[in-house]
Amino acid sequence: MTGTEAGAFDAIIIGAGVIGSSIAFSLARSGLKTLNVDALPAAGYGSTSHSSAIIRPFYSHVEAASLAHEARHRWLGWSAFLGAPSDEPLATYTECGLLSLLTEEGDDAAAACAAMTKAGVPWTRLSPHDLETRFPGMSLKSFAPVKQRDDESFGIDNGGRVIGAVHVPDAGFVNDPALAAQNLKAAAERGGATFRFNAKVVGIRQDKNRVLGITLADGTKINAPVLINAAGPHSSVINQLAGQTGLLPIATKAMRHEVVYLPWPRALESTSARTIITDLDTGVYTRPDGADMLVGTLDPPCDTPDVVDPDDYNNGFTDHWTTQAWRAGQRFPELEIPEQARGTIGLYDVSDDWIPIYDRSELGGYYLAIGTSGNQFKNAPMVGDLMTRIILECEEGHDHDTDPLTLTLPKLQRTISLAHYSRLRDVQKTANVLA
Ligand SMILES: Cc1cc2nc3c(=O)[nH]c(=O)nc-3n(C[C@H](O)[C@H](O)[C@H](O)COP(=O)(O)OP(=O)(O)OC[C@H]3O[C@@H](n4cnc5c(N)ncnc54)[C@H](O)[C@@H]3O)c2cc1C
Repeated sequence: MTGTEAGAFDAIIIGAGVIGSSIAFSLARSGLKTLNVDALPAAGYGSTSHSSAIIRPFYSHVEAASLAHEARHRWLGWSAFLGAPSDEPLATYTECGLLSLLTEEGDDAAAACAAMTKAGVPWTRLSPHDLETRFPGMSLKSFAPVKQRDDESFGIDNGGRVIGAVHVPDAGFVNDPALAAQNLKAAAERGGATFRFNAKVVGIRQDKNRVLGITLADGTKINAPVLINAAGPHSSVINQLAGQTGLLPIATKAMRHEVVYLPWPRALESTSARTIITDLDTGVYTRPDGADMLVGTLDPPCDTPDVVDPDDYNNGFTDHWTTQAWRAGQRFPELEIPEQARGTIGLYDVSDDWIPIYDRSELGGYYLAIGTSGNQFKNAPMVGDLMTRIILECEEGHDHDTDPLTLTLPKLQRTISLAHYSRLRDVQKTANVLA
């Protein structure tokens, strides 16, 4: 495929991560001829491959809680959703539940509990006694506010206690996020989609405020009436190529994150203790990963956001690794922290309010599936349908800005407004990865 290929594709998707591959699958099912282009050698090799891949409906907006709960059904029925042949290796979803620790009444969990209730997501409240029984290796001391490791009061409790937890049984994790993207790619290909790898987009051509197509680094020009930015942490670079930077009210930026792998503590060996925990009191989340505990950060206010150039950032472990491990050690005093750092380093594509932008743009035919903010792996199986609805309706002339589209969630039998993901929404800048 060299030279100019006009009219060969109905839509070009920049990126073949879990989001771009899902969009390809859904558009192909709607009969569109799609092409995904990705600078990397295979699907899911970008930020998707570093994902903790936690699937949880614990969100503080009803739209987000509903979308995530609906997506869980797709993870549960992954093979059927994909229409995968029986011999295809598939990513697997393990449902282990989620625990959100509470240290004071009326904290951040209140909004999430209200949203989950409205969305029909089951949850229960656990008492400190429940936690002591179920998690014998867990300290119930409170350490807030979260501190840097060199703070002289780091590790000293504040005299308060964990007052309980919200338990969400319908939560879990996917074992291999890159494989999940590859599964979506294979499903899209079965529907007629095309993927092109080792192909970097360096130009976006347009005419009369309408997208014409892309130019690749080797000079190839490919045209299509629809272009979708699903470039993950490179979303702002692609928006710049499209001349959209100053026109977007919500910015996106690449933010570096380290995820720590530690040996799973022996005190938590029982099956019921192998759950996901979000702990704003120590600033980390943990989840089981085979013989390991995976520790990620909840980006507490005392940490400086590690905003980076997505093409030039430190790919080695730093002091963040040790700090996260020590923060987890406050909650699990028996945690062994080896000298040799193990884990992964990935980039979030963070929007101003940590909510993704799934929307059209000011440039005709140019669509956005960006700002996934470290929390949209779970929704990927739904994002394809969501973007397909926006693209097909807007291309038919619908004004999604003034008359926001909705999406019906077939399992939950409810409808959500896609205005929640609009680039024009009101932005609250206090959120974190839990959104
Ligand atoms: C450390 C970490 C932990 C996370 N944990 C969770 C979690 O527990 N639960 C959850 O729901 N979400 C989580 N996330 C978020 C989730 O993984 C992401 O939202 C999701 O994977 C983003 O997928 P994507 O397809 O948008 O991006 P990517 O996977 O990054 O794909 C974008 C693709 O675009 C390509 N691209 C970029 N620029 C160009 C160009 N110019 N030309 C061609 N191709 C280009 C890239 O090569 C890349 O392959 C986490 C993310 C990270 C990094």
